[in-house]
Order: sequence, then C-alpha cells, then structure tokens
Amino acid sequence: MIPNYIEHIGIAVKNLEESIKYYENILGMKCYSIEDVVDQKVRTAFFKVGQTKIELLEPTSEESTIAKFIEKKGEGVHHIAFSVDNLSEKLKLVEEKGVALIDKNARKGAEGLNIGFLHPKSTGGVLTEFCENPNK
Ligand code: ZN
Repeated sequence: MIPNYIEHIGIAVKNLEESIKYYENILGMKCYSIEDVVDQKVRTAFFKVGQTKIELLEPTSEESTIAKFIEKKGEGVHHIAFSVDNLSEKLKLVEEKGVALIDKNARKGAEGLNIGFLHPKSTGGVLTEFCENPNK
C-alpha cells in the first residue's frame, strides 16, 4: 500500500480566524500553528487529531487556487493528504499506473513537508496530496 496514514485533511475557508473558533470552541481542539504559504497564496492553520491534522486554508489572493475553489464550490473539504515514504518514487509509481499528476516533481509545502498533488480527474474527484516528512 502506498499511503501510511492520513497526514491531514485540507479545508478551504473564507476567514481563518472565524473558522478557528469552531475547531477551538466547539470541538475543543487547539490551533498550534498559523503559517503563510506564499507560493500557494494561502494562510494555513493547523490542528492535530491523533496522528492526523486538520489544515485550514484561507486564500490571501484572488489568484489563489483556494479562492477559485471557494468561488466554485463554497467552503469545505478541499483535499486529502496521505503520508508516504519516498515521495518522488511514489509519484512516479502512480503516474505509471495512469494517474494524472498536478506535481510531477515533489515540492515544498506547509510545515516543511515535501508534497505532490494528484489530479482529481484521476482520483474520483478527490484532490489528493502525497506528503513526506524529510526530517523523519
Ligand atoms: Zn495539504
């Protein structure tokens, strides 16, 4: 099996502060990190649920893919990220099996992880991210 576990679930939100309130005040989770990911034009907030994280994504520009996603579909689940080992190898492996890739090569994502996205047209409509912790 390629994935080890669900690393995080990415959720598109219009307003990070407003959304954080739900996770903190209702679900009792604690936001442990807020980070700007400049090249993706998003601001992210992270929560942990066991081994899995919730990643809230707020667009910082109209050009952001998150802004376009919210415009089309509204706020909600944006992507699922699986933890994998040997990211580059795993991207190549699924591509050989006919999966369209958004990222042919691994790149840097939030939290210092190496990431690569699979195209939702090949994954049953679920934008799928593979990520690898380089410090593990
Ligand atoms: Zn993600």
